[in-house]
Amino acid sequence: MPVLFVGHGSPMNAIADSEFSRAWAEVGSSLPAPRAVLCVSAHWETAGMRVTAMEQPPTIHDFRGFPEALSAFVYPAPGSPELARRVCELLTDQDIRTDPERGLDHGAWSVLCRLFPHADVSVVQLSLDRTRDPAWHFALGAVLKPLRDEGVLVVGSGNIVHNLHTLIWQDSAFDWAVEFDSAIRERILARDFESVIHYETLAPAAREAVPTREHFLPLLYVLGMADPQDRIEFFCEKVTLGSISMRSVRVG
Ligand code: ZN
Repeated sequence: MPVLFVGHGSPMNAIADSEFSRAWAEVGSSLPAPRAVLCVSAHWETAGMRVTAMEQPPTIHDFRGFPEALSAFVYPAPGSPELARRVCELLTDQDIRTDPERGLDHGAWSVLCRLFPHADVSVVQLSLDRTRDPAWHFALGAVLKPLRDEGVLVVGSGNIVHNLHTLIWQDSAFDWAVEFDSAIRERILARDFESVIHYETLAPAAREAVPTREHFLPLLYVLGMADPQDRIEFFCEKVTLGSISMRSVRVG
């Protein structure tokens, strides 16, 4: 099974037609049918890890200032307590437990509703342990790799460049944002994942591009799950809104 990192950007991509929503739909239709999805989203950070375990996870509307239609949006994909148990089993040496109340955040559903518009693939979310460094998150991806052979599609959802303080509501990009995004692209293609893990020293713009880690970290899970023979390609390659990279990666 391939592994995806999706640059999610604005939650409006869930309901408004865009070049991004179309690219996500296209990738979704090109995938082998997964048994289930495990999503690592920028929008769920915890101390220690949690994994969603509801049979029917609710849609969480974790944003403000968007149209009512978005707040009313429901993505009714079922959960998978079975996959939640499997994830806990793989990560048994770690601080992890199931969360019986948590639903799906917009980092997950705004992307999954385009990848799987019929909501017919069950979804489990794994939280980001905010106490850990990037190398740890990358290594965790490697531990989750057996899921690929078990028919589970792992989706990391974040943004390689994500600075809301400098965001402008236009389809354009700051030079520093493009510079950082391109540096990451190059390192990924060179399979120099060590440099991606140590992104802080990769380009002068790192501090502006990644002011906080949570949108960057899901990428590391996806790279950590790559095998040497996997093809790596990008299915969106654009920096928009000044400082949001929509770059999305397909591994395998
Ligand atoms: Zn986000």
